[in-house]
Amino acid sequence: MTNLIDPRQTLVDAVRHVAAKGLNSGTSGNISLRLDTGMLITPTGIAPDALGRASMVEMSLDGEWQGTVRPSSEWNMHAAIYRAIPEAEAIVHAHPDHCVALSCLRESIPPFHYMIASFGGDDVPCSDYAPFGTEELAQAAVRALAGRNSCLLANHGMISFGPSLAIALARTQKLETLARQYLLARSVGRPVMLTEEELGVVKTRYKTYGQQSPSDF
Ligand code: 13P
Ligand code: ZN
Repeated sequence: MTNLIDPRQTLVDAVRHVAAKGLNSGTSGNISLRLDTGMLITPTGIAPDALGRASMVEMSLDGEWQGTVRPSSEWNMHAAIYRAIPEAEAIVHAHPDHCVALSCLRESIPPFHYMIASFGGDDVPCSDYAPFGTEELAQAAVRALAGRNSCLLANHGMISFGPSLAIALARTQKLETLARQYLLARSVGRPVMLTEEELGVVKTRYKTYGQQSPSDF
């Protein structure tokens, strides 16, 4: 998936991947990569099929760009995360159905499943509400991401970052799967939550889980 030689093509491939997985539809969502000079971000309002390498916008974290293609309306949310979280190298914002449903309830995803711990804490928080494309939403996302690599965005969707785009994409998919499983469990009963102690054991086990390099945790 990640094309290290051509970050523009990497973003085109990532947008199509997210659409093909059903995590976004239409022009929902946006993706970016950190650059030495700022970031490379998907354009606003262009559907995946109509995107090309030239549609990607290179811009500063202060909102400056050149050319005729306008950057994502959420550029300030991406910029705020890159500023606040030095380890964020790639960001995926999406509107997957089950994350959206939970975000409309303004509920965090609690520790109903051990994999919740892989997002950095004991839950995946839901941000405060703010309109799309605003600095207020950017700040709400940064607050909700404290100690986490992913969060829900109230009445909107979700956002994940990672040390690579592949990891940010994997977290997006994983969060949507867990949101679906949580709603499924909730629809037939009251899920039993893992205790702090049980989550502590999971966090320890995660430290040695997987291939370790590159980390998916
Ligand atoms: P853009 O098309 O401007 O990236 O916006 C999509 C979106 O998800 C806004 O929150
Ligand atoms: Zn959005």
